[in-house]
Amino acid sequence: LLTRGSPFEMDVVEIRGTPTRVWSHAPASLRACLETSLEHGDAPALVYGEESISHADYYRTAATLAHRLVDEYGIREGDRVAVAMRNYPEWVIAFFATASIGAIAVPLNSWWTGSELRFGLTDSGSKLLVADGERLDRLADVLPELSIPSIAVRTESALPENSRSWHEVIGQVSPGVRLPEAAPDPDGPATIFYTSGTTGLPKGAVGSHRNMIQNIVTGEYSRARTFMRLGLELSEYQAYVDALPTPSILCVLPLFHATGAQSIMLPILYRGGALVLMYKWDTEEALRLIERERITSITAVPAMITQLMASPNLSEYDLSSLLALSSGGAPAPPAMASRVRGNLNDVLIGQGYGLTECSAAAVTNGGPDYQIRPESCGLPAPPVDVKVVDPVGTELPPGSVGEVWLNGPGVVIGYWERPEATAEAFADGWLRTGDLGYLDDEGFLYIVDRAKDMIIRGGENVYCAEVEAAIHEHPAVAEVAVTGVPHEVYGEEVGAVVHTLPEQFLDADELRSYLEPRIAAFKIPAHIQITKDDLPRNAAGKLLKKQIKREHGWLGEE
Ligand code: AMP
Repeated sequence: LLTRGSPFEMDVVEIRGTPTRVWSHAPASLRACLETSLEHGDAPALVYGEESISHADYYRTAATLAHRLVDEYGIREGDRVAVAMRNYPEWVIAFFATASIGAIAVPLNSWWTGSELRFGLTDSGSKLLVADGERLDRLADVLPELSIPSIAVRTESALPENSRSWHEVIGQVSPGVRLPEAAPDPDGPATIFYTSGTTGLPKGAVGSHRNMIQNIVTGEYSRARTFMRLGLELSEYQAYVDALPTPSILCVLPLFHATGAQSIMLPILYRGGALVLMYKWDTEEALRLIERERITSITAVPAMITQLMASPNLSEYDLSSLLALSSGGAPAPPAMASRVRGNLNDVLIGQGYGLTECSAAAVTNGGPDYQIRPESCGLPAPPVDVKVVDPVGTELPPGSVGEVWLNGPGVVIGYWERPEATAEAFADGWLRTGDLGYLDDEGFLYIVDRAKDMIIRGGENVYCAEVEAAIHEHPAVAEVAVTGVPHEVYGEEVGAVVHTLPEQFLDADELRSYLEPRIAAFKIPAHIQITKDDLPRNAAGKLLKKQIKREHGWLGEE
């Protein structure tokens, strides 16, 4: 037990056959998390550009919206409300308002095209959409046919049919407003975050309130562990925490992604801190905001941290407020840590490993451990347990590479309406991550590869099968292999080798224009090689991607 206050029993999990009780003073639901904002009063909660919304106002606006959802849109427990917009304060408000009345918040990827957004809406069976102007424009042709009402956020355009503006819906916010009566089940569904396997179509990971809330505990636990390993006693650590300034975090990752909403937004709001939202990543803007908002921590994908450290203007800004820089979502190159140390010696560096399916970070590395083992993503944050298994599920000894399985309070309920995929990924309480890695003798985890074919381009996941399917639609294409191509800034870029049919001709630019209306821009291959040769496959007919990468010089350092 590392947290203070009046703890409640958060969970009982089995760790290697032993039922283990987990205690926390964190709230038991997203509703309880929102309610803590009332205690933080005038302290800023949401900062966007020149706008700053206090904790009390954020609570009151969310409570008002919750009433509107119930009274005007008939939203009931278990109904889905889709949220599709950039990192605006309204995202946070709509998310908490929905979950606080026992309904399910469904964040949709704001990079998705109209047809991808349509998929998210219909797959989740959303009853209402809260979206910004850009998303509504993309859905213009689709919405009338779906007949889903919408609440329009930050748009100058004419509203679609059956849509009302955010301001009209919210109307007057009364100072004494409180959330409508509701008692969401802590173990019931609260969110659906979309992820994807190699099958192409995104799958909705259904998270409970407790799944979400464990991020608060994981964050606190990981920080405490870092200090204990530095030799501090618990009382010294608590004195250190008491003396810390109110946290202010730069939210550079999209809120629709597990890391953005769960690792960044939840813990910071719960602690009464400020979430400084960025519309999109911009290195110079990030530096300006660190100085202006006295940012205390940033959690980003490794590429962003590398870009920050590479800025020629780094020394022109006052970055003295920064206490911690963490990365997650993709492998962090050890060079990143040394660059941070070179520039910002006193800043704690860390990284976290996790998946949407385990509600963001489950394994964390920080401080002295990270200095010694920068290539490891760390130790499981108890009560998370990790094991590495062979293809038949037998646990492997330290040092052996296999598939990483994990369990713990963040592992989600399952996939939305996909019983087969759920049974495949969540077996006997373990989440099969599809990542390849190994543990060392001290229990540190190292991820070496992704068993799935996923490409992570600057923190955004690109699923090869989905891009391949889109390319396959072109009539000149016989077969195609999509793989990652190493890139200094993005980590990886998308590459495609396309085998065209006899007598058919296709060039890279033509293929890119063909893909533009079909898949989001970040999924369109930056590298395209057209060939008349068969692509290499194994006996089972599976594409030999490593060989393809090697043949095209896309393997990076072997
Ligand atoms: P997502 O569900 O979008 O969060 O993607 C999860 C995947 O990102 C994992 O299965 C890993 O392949 C990858 N990932 C996340 N964090 C790390 C990390 N620290 N190191 C290596 N890979 C990571």
